[in-house]
Amino acid sequence: MKPDGSSLIGFGSSAPGGAEFLAFDPARGISLEPTFCSATGRDLERAVQLAAAAAPLWAKLSGAQRNKFLRTIADNLEKKSADLVARAQQETALPEARLKGEIARTAGQLRLYGETAERGDWLDARIETAQPERQPLPKPDHRSLLRPLGPVVVFGSSNFPFAYSVAGGDTASAFAAGCPVIVKAHSAHPGTSELVGRLILHAVRDCGLPEGTFSLLFDAGLTVGQALVQHPLVKAVGFTGSLRGGRALTDLAAARPEPIPVYAEMGSINPVFILPGALAERSAALVDGLHASATVGVGQFCTNPGLIVLVRAPAAEDFLKNLGAKLAATPPAAMLTAAICANFRKGVAARARITGVRPLPAPSADDARLSTVAAPVWFETSAQDYSSNPNLTEEIFGPSSLVVWCKDSAEMLAVAHDLSGNLTATLHAGTAEVAAQGALLDILANKAGRVILNGFPTGLEVSSAIVHSGPYPATSDGGRSTSVGTRALTRWVRLVCYQNFTEELLPPELQNANPQGLRRLVNGAWTNGAI
Ligand code: NAP
Repeated sequence: MKPDGSSLIGFGSSAPGGAEFLAFDPARGISLEPTFCSATGRDLERAVQLAAAAAPLWAKLSGAQRNKFLRTIADNLEKKSADLVARAQQETALPEARLKGEIARTAGQLRLYGETAERGDWLDARIETAQPERQPLPKPDHRSLLRPLGPVVVFGSSNFPFAYSVAGGDTASAFAAGCPVIVKAHSAHPGTSELVGRLILHAVRDCGLPEGTFSLLFDAGLTVGQALVQHPLVKAVGFTGSLRGGRALTDLAAARPEPIPVYAEMGSINPVFILPGALAERSAALVDGLHASATVGVGQFCTNPGLIVLVRAPAAEDFLKNLGAKLAATPPAAMLTAAICANFRKGVAARARITGVRPLPAPSADDARLSTVAAPVWFETSAQDYSSNPNLTEEIFGPSSLVVWCKDSAEMLAVAHDLSGNLTATLHAGTAEVAAQGALLDILANKAGRVILNGFPTGLEVSSAIVHSGPYPATSDGGRSTSVGTRALTRWVRLVCYQNFTEELLPPELQNANPQGLRRLVNGAWTNGAI
């Protein structure tokens, strides 16, 4: 499989005419063939019209049909894993083992969301049967469930070329929920995007689904993405990336004549609080664990631990000395794109200029020949300086973290209080002190979508219970939904109630016979039975 550089518009390709661009190999610093062509306005219009035409058919697909489609995509990805990994390695500089693992995770996620679609309990079907004799007023028959919104636009992330890109979590959950999808390919891995897009289209054809189920648009700039978000037939947007990009698209969607939801997963500094008891019990393991979590993937994870909070004491100083030595010995590595690396370098240079902030022992020198290579750069500061400088709360995407020294546990609580929204917050506590951390844990649960005890924030398990979300700026919707895990489906639906409908007019999920054996709330009691 090789990409040819054209956008995928339903079952067709884009017409030539859009601005051209090349993919880039960040490890070797060279451009890659072929030339990619931005989608034109006509391409975009056709992709959206096709998706809008497919939407009513998609809304009527059974959960079993959606499951079959998602399983077919997963099978296709696994069959072509070698080709996908080869191209993604060139475009992202991520190691082969990581990319293979990411394909397995993507396939697992597609299958999990497919099974969820088929099981149907996520639809939250509820029935209150009529009581015509009720006094003083008769009670009507009410039946409600979640229904798909229609065409969804997905902006894949740069740092997960499979799991959160073209066939990633947003796309998989939107399909599972019954929505056609248009992906705006990330310019960091266009060839990988095209190959995955073609595999999705094979699955569309093999499952006999309508053209317009899926399109993939390239763009050398930002106009295609912005036009998609503003298109009146687009009903929701999924985004993973920067706060600036996510906020720009959320604002555009809110300013439409008909505003639509944008589920943007953006910045997070993922604070890690380490208590004296944890250091007394397992300092060396904490050095290894934190180093691994902070440097994996050259720090390019939305769950990267970017803020480490310690109470100053000799054991904590030893801990940081050992961690600093490990960081200084960490070799530089290529980041995903030259732009991400330039942002990283700008961020650390700005942080180094802030009064009261000191760098940890000198990092290994970056490879000056490449514009993409970075080594870990950590800083330390006091809790007082941290709380008086809002710039210190900003994420630096890449291998940089800030250590905040507190005088005592009261100052630690104050740092926690001042946090803005995060995807995760972590507490490391010793056996004897953990029970007394209720106040700190309550604050952290108000600040993050996932609170971790004695673990590390990277390494996200995709499951029914996981939450990958958080108050703003971690996400644009205040943490009321998740972009990972089976609850992700509920972003692409809205509630509809049917009043006094006859059996044959109702969707099968709400019919008395309960033909799919769904779990439903019937007159206040959960049941899988018929009425
Ligand atoms: P990004 O710049 O926000 O881009 C993400 C996607 O949105 C890309 O497809 C991009 O188009 C598009 N986009 C960005 N701004 C836009 C705008 N104003 N209008 C229309 N489209 C827009 O993110 P990135 O390139 O992946 O990485 C840059 C930074 O994002 C990193 O330095 C980091 O801070 C953050 N990041 C966060 C996460 C996370 O998980 N939260 C993941 C990755 C990156 P192009 O493809 O044309 O650029």
